[in-house]
Amino acid sequence: MRIGIGFDSHRFMEGRRLVLGGVEIPFERGLWGHSDADVLCHAIIDSIIGALGLGDIGRHYPDTDERWKDASSIGLLKETIGLMRMSGYDILWIDSVVIAEEPKIGPFIDSMKEEISKAGIPRERINIKAKTAEGMGLIGRGEGMAAQAVCLLVRLGEPN
Ligand code: MG
Repeated sequence: MRIGIGFDSHRFMEGRRLVLGGVEIPFERGLWGHSDADVLCHAIIDSIIGALGLGDIGRHYPDTDERWKDASSIGLLKETIGLMRMSGYDILWIDSVVIAEEPKIGPFIDSMKEEISKAGIPRERINIKAKTAEGMGLIGRGEGMAAQAVCLLVRLGEPN
């Protein structure tokens, strides 16, 4: 078995869509980034890449590469899961947390699980939590949001 941890953060910007876990959330600002800046998908991707021992998300999907400009991060997650399967692993469990002062994330968690399941992580193998920063720091001031994820991978054929 392998364990991996992922963290990501992005700043808010006017005129951008807010995409989290593959779901577009109605809000007056979105997250700035080279891709769609889906902070939850990026944290999950980094946790899987970490468990595989293959470096980090920036090595696989560099923000200097035009291919990933405005890319759907659900698509990147799907690619990462393909890489994981080629490496001989499957996902046993993912736990994750989105940290944002606003908007309220809770009502969208079910839809996020649905979108993430389409990328190859069954909804019964992922948990998504939402927290605020209690008004403290840059997240508390609403400058951006962050996400953390931890994953447990099992080698294909290994009993779990
Ligand atoms: Mg990112």
